[in-house]
Amino acid sequence: MSDAQQVDVVVVGLGPGGEALANALTGAGLAVVAVDKHLVGGECPYYGCVPTKMMVRASDALAEAGRAAELAGDVTVRSSWAPVAERVSVQATDHWDDRVAVERLQKAGATVLHGVARLAGVRRVTVTPTDGSDPVTYEATRGVVLNPGTRPATPPVEGLAGTPYWTNRDAVQVTEVPGSLVVVGGGPIGCELAQVFARFGVQVTIVQHGDRLLAVNEPEASALLAEVFAEEGIRVLLGVELTRTSYASGRFRLTTSTGEELEADQVLVAAGRTPNLDDLGLETVGLDPAARTIEVDDRMRAGEGLWAIGDVTGKGAFTHVAMYQNAIARRDILGEEGPPAAYHALPHVTFTDPEVAAVGLSEAQAREAGLTLRVGRTRLEESTRGFTHGPGARGLVKVVEDADRGVLVGATVVGPGGGEIIGFLAVAVHAAVPVDTLRSMIYAYPTFHRAIEAALADLS
Ligand SMILES: Cc1cc2nc3c(=O)[nH]c(=O)nc-3n(C[C@H](O)[C@H](O)[C@H](O)COP(=O)(O)OP(=O)(O)OC[C@H]3O[C@@H](n4cnc5c(N)ncnc54)[C@H](O)[C@@H]3O)c2cc1C
Repeated sequence: MSDAQQVDVVVVGLGPGGEALANALTGAGLAVVAVDKHLVGGECPYYGCVPTKMMVRASDALAEAGRAAELAGDVTVRSSWAPVAERVSVQATDHWDDRVAVERLQKAGATVLHGVARLAGVRRVTVTPTDGSDPVTYEATRGVVLNPGTRPATPPVEGLAGTPYWTNRDAVQVTEVPGSLVVVGGGPIGCELAQVFARFGVQVTIVQHGDRLLAVNEPEASALLAEVFAEEGIRVLLGVELTRTSYASGRFRLTTSTGEELEADQVLVAAGRTPNLDDLGLETVGLDPAARTIEVDDRMRAGEGLWAIGDVTGKGAFTHVAMYQNAIARRDILGEEGPPAAYHALPHVTFTDPEVAAVGLSEAQAREAGLTLRVGRTRLEESTRGFTHGPGARGLVKVVEDADRGVLVGATVVGPGGGEIIGFLAVAVHAAVPVDTLRSMIYAYPTFHRAIEAALADLS
C-alpha cells in the first residue's frame, strides 16, 4: 500500500505560468498541490520583469527630462534612486512577500506549500517543506506539472565565486546605486540594467563575450543600441571575457581576456540562466537531469502524467511564453479542445531606450531555414513622426518576407514604443497575412507604426 497522499495534480514551481495553472485547475474542481521553494509567482514579479520595468520607467523619465532642454527649455532634475527602490519594494514586490499570491491560491482551494519538490517516479512528488517539517509524498492521479524556471548562470571566472557580485536578484533590491558597475553579459537583462544604472549616474562598462549586444536580435538592432550606449557614456567591450576577479576594501578588480584591468564598485553578472533541473528527480521518470531543457510536445506533455511549462521548455524564456503554455497544459489536463502550441510568431522585447522588439525569425534564421527571402528596412528618423519627435526618435523597422509564400516570417522594431509597434507585426506573422494585404492598408499619419509601410515598400 502506498503511503503517499492522493491528489489530482501537483504543480512544481510556481512561476507565472505555474501559479496561473494551479489557480485554473483548482477552479475547475481538481485537487491541486502547488509547491514553490521560494516565492509564489516566481522570478517575474519579484526579481525579473516587473521590478526591472519599474527601474526602466524611472531611467526613461530621466532621459526624457534631459531631452526637454532641446524641446522645451531648461528642466532641472536631480536624480534619486529612493523612489525607484520604494516602488520596487512596496508596489512591485510587497517587500518580497508572496502572502497575497498564496492567499489567492488558497482561497481558490489549492494546497500551497513552500518547499523543495522532487519527482519520486511517475506521478509522484516528494515535498520537503522549507519550515523543516517532515517530507510528504504526493501521488498525482492526473499528473505533475513542472515549472521550475531558471537561476542566474555563474560564468567560470577565477575568483568570482568568492566576491559579493550582484545578479538580477540583488540589482532589483539596491537602495543606493554604486559609483561604477561592470555588467557581465550584453543580453536583454544586461543591456536593460546597464542603461538604467548609467542614467542614474553610474559609470557602466559592459563586458560581452560575443561580438555584439543582443545577439539574438538583428545585427542592425545591436549596432543601433551600441551607438546609443556609446553616446550615453556606457563603455561596451565586445568579444571580451572576464578571466579573473578579486574583491577587497569595497572594490572589484577584474582582468579581461585582452589583458585589460578594470576596477569597479560593483559587478552585475547577467551572463545567461541555468535551468533548475539538476535536483528535480528527473531521473526517476527517465529524463536527463543534466539536460538544459525538458522536451515537450505541442500539448506541453513531457512524459506519462507529466507536463512542463516555462523557461525550462526552451521555447523562449519569457513570461508570455509561460502564460501561453499554461493555457495549453490546462486544456490538455482538463481534456479540452484547443489549438496546439506554435511558436512561429513569438514576440520578444528588450526594454532599453530605444526598445528593441522582434517577432518570428531574424534574417539569418530565415536564411538558415532555407527560405527565399526579401528583406525591407527603414529608419524611424526618416518618418514624419521621427522628424517631429526629434530627440529620442532613433530606430528602425526591418521586415523579413518568405518570398515564395508572400508573407512575413519575422520583423524587428527598434524605437520608442517598439514593444507596442511589434504587436502589429506579430499579427502579420502569426496569421500569415499576405504582404500584398499589408501593403494595401491605411497607416495613420504621422505615427511610428507608419514606418512599417515604408519597410514593406523596401522589400527587395
Ligand atoms: C531580470 C529579468 C528580467 C526579465 N524581464 C522579462 C520581461 O520583461 N518580459 C518577459 O516576458 N520575461 C522577462 N524575464 C523572464 C521571466 O522572468 C521568466 O520567463 C518568467 O518568470 C517565467 O519563468 P518560469 O515560469 O519558467 O519560472 P520562474 O519564474 O523562474 O519560476 C520558477 C519557480 O519555481 C520554483 N522552483 C524551482 N525549483 C523548485 C523545486 N524543486 N521545488 C519547488 N519550487 C521550485 C522557484 O522558486 C520559482 O519560484 C525576465 C527575467 C529576468 C531574470
